[in-house]
Amino acid sequence: MKLRILGGHGGVTAGFAATSFLIDDSLLLDAGSVAETLTIPEQVKIDNILISHSHLDHIKDLAFLCDNCFGMKNIPFQVYTHPTVKNIIKTHLFNDTIWPDFTELPSKENPTIEFHGVLPEVSFVLQKYKITPVKVQHPNDAMGYIIDDGKSAILFTVDTASTERIWEVAKTVKNLKAIVTEVSFPNALSKVAQASDHHTPASLKLELSKMPKDIPIILTHLKPNFREVLFAEISELKEPRLRLLDHDGEIFNF
Ligand SMILES: [Zn+2]
Ligand SMILES: [Zn+2]
Repeated sequence: MKLRILGGHGGVTAGFAATSFLIDDSLLLDAGSVAETLTIPEQVKIDNILISHSHLDHIKDLAFLCDNCFGMKNIPFQVYTHPTVKNIIKTHLFNDTIWPDFTELPSKENPTIEFHGVLPEVSFVLQKYKITPVKVQHPNDAMGYIIDDGKSAILFTVDTASTERIWEVAKTVKNLKAIVTEVSFPNALSKVAQASDHHTPASLKLELSKMPKDIPIILTHLKPNFREVLFAEISELKEPRLRLLDHDGEIFNF
């Protein structure tokens, strides 16, 4: 499984893009930066999109992806997310006020994008992938996903505070090769992190003890303005499993 980090940051500024991970060129996880990081031919190749939650840094490029690719796809982009998130995106983004409703463009019969509601711990199959959504601790029914192609599985929690269930489910996944999770704020901002359901290095340390052992952990969603202090605080954890994202655009093969 090829994992390309299009954007892996918890903010947007020059050189730092918001969450979007591309698997094998056709399965997208979150749409924070897919339109700004891929060429239009690469964008058209995407078939399926998993959305973790409704926050803007995870959905905003759905708008520009549709604008770039409408009329170019034989089959609409197929988006899978919690029904709550599906309703939020339809009500607040593709509502013909903030942005055109691409679920009915260029025509109702042949739209650019289609949304499907999926529920926690009800696995489903997309092409060669078994997808298992699991609820995590973040607003509006946020979910992480375990993506398994039969040889390798990767777990994505993206935005979450301390959580339990996804780690229990992770321990049942035999071919788990990597965990992609988050650390957003430095320890000095622990109150902000708690209020917004994110991790600091200190809260992550407790979380590590719940995760399956000996699996590499890729940390993303760092706030760009706290990057240096986060790097220092994470290296103080002296945890060999942890791998900080060096830069957006990194590619991993599992
Ligand atoms: Zn986020
Ligand atoms: Zn969020």
